[in-house]
Amino acid sequence: MIDYNQFLATQAVELKPSGIRRFFDVASKMENVISLGVGEPDFVTPWAIRDMAIASIEDGFTSYTANPGLLELREEIANYMERSYHLSYQPENQIIVTIGASQALDTAFRALLNPGEEVLIIEPAFVSYAALVTMAGGKPIPVSTWAENGFKVTAEQIEKAITPRTKAILLCSPNNPTGAFLNKHDLSAIAEVVKKHNLIVVSDEIYAELTYDEEYYSIATLPGMYERTIVINGFSKAFAMTGWRLGYVCAPQPIIEVMLKIHQYTTMCAPHMLQHGAIEALRNGADQVEEMRKSYRRRRNYIVEALNQIGLNCHLPGGAFYVFPSIQNTGLTSEQFAEQLLMKERVAVVPGNAFGESGEGYIRCSYATSLQQLQEAIRRIEKFLQSLGANPKV
Ligand code: PMP
Repeated sequence: MIDYNQFLATQAVELKPSGIRRFFDVASKMENVISLGVGEPDFVTPWAIRDMAIASIEDGFTSYTANPGLLELREEIANYMERSYHLSYQPENQIIVTIGASQALDTAFRALLNPGEEVLIIEPAFVSYAALVTMAGGKPIPVSTWAENGFKVTAEQIEKAITPRTKAILLCSPNNPTGAFLNKHDLSAIAEVVKKHNLIVVSDEIYAELTYDEEYYSIATLPGMYERTIVINGFSKAFAMTGWRLGYVCAPQPIIEVMLKIHQYTTMCAPHMLQHGAIEALRNGADQVEEMRKSYRRRRNYIVEALNQIGLNCHLPGGAFYVFPSIQNTGLTSEQFAEQLLMKERVAVVPGNAFGESGEGYIRCSYATSLQQLQEAIRRIEKFLQSLGANPKV
């Protein structure tokens, strides 16, 4: 028997498997499961976008593109950033089209981090962040947020976590998994700390289109922050294009120059034909994005009210398509709750501890599924709560 660990990198072997996958491997083998688990839209990509990619294949656009992506697409991204977020980036040297926001994040950390440098990660956090920082040789430092404050991080909390080794802060608003939304006021306070300590912000803005109550602000628009922010965005969520694997990064030119070298060697470029679809998305997709946003908003309002009614305390998230209710009154851990709910009532949710320690006592439910499915899921969760004999309404 070969011990394969002798061949494998210790750091890679020691990565924790994603706490989301484990449940889905079980759920995918069961019948009649309602999944509130996966973080992706239930919509199919709008037809006009699909048509454009099909036409692109038919027209023979099967070659590599320029490393940072088609100039035409980068121009559309620059227009979109300007009109949606009042941010100006040069298509020629400040934008790279990537394989999803995922690759943009990976490349950003590789470009930023020397061994042992610290990145503050606001938890509960998207499962990839800590692993990406670690793989880039950095050290993820969790900063916990709490339900009492709507899972918003404060400037004071950030300042407390800063050490001489801190290089960057990773912000994600609206947040996965909590849906927490940082408004201009929240961001301004954080920006002051960032500038005072000479840090850089990696701003994951993948859910920027999906906000429901307040206007979206990018931290890069605040005074002195454009120079020290790497904005990451993509097509997966807003345009229902998860499987296309298209994202992008916008940043000051010296950062993009270094990121582009990494991107050249690891990826070459994003798929040519799909980039044509992305051009169509940015040119003509706004109405469809708005329709989907309204639909998510209706579902958010429904599920938050319903969860509170059946006894699971749930704050109103400002964006994305997740709710993060407390399950503390059931006396179960988040893993026990998720596992028993799946086995007994066939509803898949993600245990909050998958997103960091401060997620314990919560579950993540994605409401990117039909209202009908959500209603059925609520019925089943209520039945599950009753079977626990808990009196969660107390
Ligand atoms: N950031 C966050 C916060 C996410 O939730 C996700 C997807 N779940 C990503 C990045 C990755 O998105 P993409 O599909 O563009 O790689």
